[in-house]
Amino acid sequence: MKVDILAIGAHPDDVELSSSGTLLRHLAAGKTVGLLDLTRGELGSRGNAELRDAEAQEAAAKMGARFRKNLGMKDGLFQYNEENILKIATFLRWCRPGIVLANTPDDRHPDHGRAAKLTADACFYSGLVKIETFGPKEEKQAPWRPKAIYHYIQDKDLIPDFVVDISPYMDAKMDLVLTFRSQFYQDNTDAYTKEPSTPISGKDFLDFLKAKARSFGRPLGVEYAEGFIAGRIPGVNNLFDLV
Ligand SMILES: [Zn+2]
Repeated sequence: MKVDILAIGAHPDDVELSSSGTLLRHLAAGKTVGLLDLTRGELGSRGNAELRDAEAQEAAAKMGARFRKNLGMKDGLFQYNEENILKIATFLRWCRPGIVLANTPDDRHPDHGRAAKLTADACFYSGLVKIETFGPKEEKQAPWRPKAIYHYIQDKDLIPDFVVDISPYMDAKMDLVLTFRSQFYQDNTDAYTKEPSTPISGKDFLDFLKAKARSFGRPLGVEYAEGFIAGRIPGVNNLFDLV
C-alpha cells in the first residue's frame, strides 16, 4: 500500500482545509495519496464522531485518495508519548510514503502543534532499525523514513517556506471542504442551523479560506496557493523549477 504522499491531520478536515489543493494537483500529475487522521474530532461542537467519519470517507473518495484511516487517538487529550509515536511509525512503515504532510508546530488549535511534533518525530523514529513495530499480520516491519515532511499552514498567519499554486483546483478544494457538512456553512440546507456556532461554522470562514489562498498566491502572481513550512531547508536541482 505504498503511497507517494501521506497527509496526516489531527482532525478529519485539517488536510482538506490546508493542503487538499496541493494533493489534488499531485493526484492529477499521477502521484498517489493516502490520508491519516489522528482523532475522530469527537470534541467538535458540531456533529459527532460517526458523522465526521462518514464525511471524511466521502471527501477521501471524492479526492481520489488511495485510503483514509483513523488512529483513534483522543481528540484534545492525545499526548506526545511513546505509544502515539509508535502508532504513527507503524502506519508510516505500512504505507512507506515519500513525502508526509502534517499540521504546523504552532496554530490556533493546540492539538495541531502536538500533532505536528508527534508526526515529525514519528517520521524520524520510524527510520531507526532498532525500533521494533509489527504490521497487521504481526510481521516485523522494516524501517522507513519519508524523504521530507512539510507542515501545511492552516489558521495562524505563519510565514511559509514555500507555496504551491492551486489555482486550477480551488473550486474542487472548496467542494472537498464543504463535504464536511456538519462543520462548515452550507448555502442550501438548514439541517445544521440549530448546531452551536463555532469560529469555523459561518460563511465568513469560507471567505477567510479563499482570502488566505489569495494571499499565498500573491507573491507568485497566481490566483490561489497553499503555504507550507519545511522541516528542513528545501533544495532544487534546477533553478527553473522555482516559480
Ligand atoms: Zn484541526
